[in-house]
Amino acid sequence: MPVEMRRGGLHLSGTALWLDAHRKAPLAFVSHAHSDHIARHERVIATRATLRLMAHRLGALPSCLPVPYNRPFELGALCLELLPAGHILGSAQLRVIRSDGKRVTYTGDLNLEASSTAEAAQVAECDTLVLESTFGHPRYRFPPKAEVVEAIEAFARTTLERGATPVLLGYSLGKSQEVIRALTSRGHSVVAHASVCAVAEVYRSLGVEVGAVRRFDGTWLPGEVGVFPPHVWKFERLLRPWPRRTAILTGWAVDPGTARRYGADEAFPLSDHADFEGLISYAKSTGASEVLTHHGFAEELARALRDRGIEARPLGTVRQLDLFG
Ligand SMILES: [Zn+2]
Repeated sequence: MPVEMRRGGLHLSGTALWLDAHRKAPLAFVSHAHSDHIARHERVIATRATLRLMAHRLGALPSCLPVPYNRPFELGALCLELLPAGHILGSAQLRVIRSDGKRVTYTGDLNLEASSTAEAAQVAECDTLVLESTFGHPRYRFPPKAEVVEAIEAFARTTLERGATPVLLGYSLGKSQEVIRALTSRGHSVVAHASVCAVAEVYRSLGVEVGAVRRFDGTWLPGEVGVFPPHVWKFERLLRPWPRRTAILTGWAVDPGTARRYGADEAFPLSDHADFEGLISYAKSTGASEVLTHHGFAEELARALRDRGIEARPLGTVRQLDLFG
């Protein structure tokens, strides 16, 4: 088995390398800086942007190896290369060429649609693909991103025209910066929670323009669109404007009842992950003869790939398979 699922996360078999381990590891590749992918490892391999965003969240890290995209390097008997994953700024896939010449790609989180605030994903051709399957169920089909962004802008505009304040709820790292850029480039004024502004500042320092955004100080100015992380919004009841309309931005918007679940008026499927068809076509385009799915709908995605003639299995069942033989 090229990778193993252990208690701390994924591990590249026969090496010292962990992949997005959630516990402190001696040596880890970190695909991107979302909180479920980072920990204070002893040594970290990641892009410069990911390391900056990790330091923003975790404080200074002891030992880091910043690696540019498309620049293969050696680590013991392995050859490693980072390729853009298109998920958030700095996100990377890792391609490992083992001493026997076999190429293994680990995607971390992956988004194949162009984003104004992340590097465009590249296809990492390989023999074995370890593929994230967050939206790996056939019911997750996202409309083209341009359409989703237009719908969000129309929501903001019509809400303002009706004399109410539009508030968009999105994850503080990645999603928020993308939507702020879309709104400001269309002439909107944006006010955002401090955590969103702080990440926007890191993006700017890395050369990615996000657009002008006012840091929320408890006041709402006429004509502004609010951008808040959903978990923060939940607790800031006293600071909410009135009248208002809220919208949650997430790939889960495809599921009925998503707006209500988040306590929002509307839901838009703005995702920083590939949808089901995107994952299938990505797996095919890598040329991999073996796909190991992990995270989310791993079983369903593996089954769908097998239906299309690609050898695939979910990583979560590796231990059971090993036990039985
Ligand atoms: Zn992520």
